[in-house]
Amino acid sequence: MSFDSLGLHAALSKAVADAGYDTPTDVQSKAIPPAIEGRDLMVSSSTGSGKTASFILPALQRILAARGDNTKRREKGVVYGPRVLVLTPTRELAIQVAKAASTYGRHVQGLRVATVVGGVPYPAQIKALRGPLDILISTPGRLLDHLTTGKAVLDHVEVLVLDEADRMLDMGFIEDIQTIAEHVPAERQTLMYSATFAGHVGRLAESLLKNAQRIDV
Ligand code: AMP
Repeated sequence: MSFDSLGLHAALSKAVADAGYDTPTDVQSKAIPPAIEGRDLMVSSSTGSGKTASFILPALQRILAARGDNTKRREKGVVYGPRVLVLTPTRELAIQVAKAASTYGRHVQGLRVATVVGGVPYPAQIKALRGPLDILISTPGRLLDHLTTGKAVLDHVEVLVLDEADRMLDMGFIEDIQTIAEHVPAERQTLMYSATFAGHVGRLAESLLKNAQRIDV
């Protein structure tokens, strides 16, 4: 299987080639085609499997597809917020995902990626949240702070990604995730990644996903 057969936009295939990858990993070849179709996914895969690209590439594809109606989003004074929201358990992982978004999105003109995590001063984050934004990568606690104060707008999120969902629940983020999900339109695509879908992770998946395709690698 090659990247060319996955149906990626030329700008994304080019970035993948620039990174020196010629063969998709197992999780990439299984997750990218249904994710591009807009399906919800529950993916069991571990770090090192290439899972980040398996959700970032379809997310970038959606941003490229939406580029046409961007003029509508430029009305003065209106904050649209991100089209793609990625939740991660730690700030380190958030930074890693943001790096991947910049790598795979390097040929997506004007791509705007922001990271909002704990342990960092609020003002710069508030500024990033009020500017034009494509992808927001965040840890649940800090994002919830910004939602509570009305600084984060999630009304236009089209894709919600939960990366390492089991770890987020182990860290006690379940209520934060549920509250954040209530602020995201119900009409959305949800991609959930977790080492396991047993117990409370499975129940969270049931409440957040619609007709999800299960992918085990
Ligand atoms: P991840 O599981 O997303 O943390 O990715 C693990 C590592 O694999 C990262 O350093 C990626 O840059 C790398 N990687 C991702 N996709 C591929 C691929 N198709 N071929 C080779 N390496 C890859």
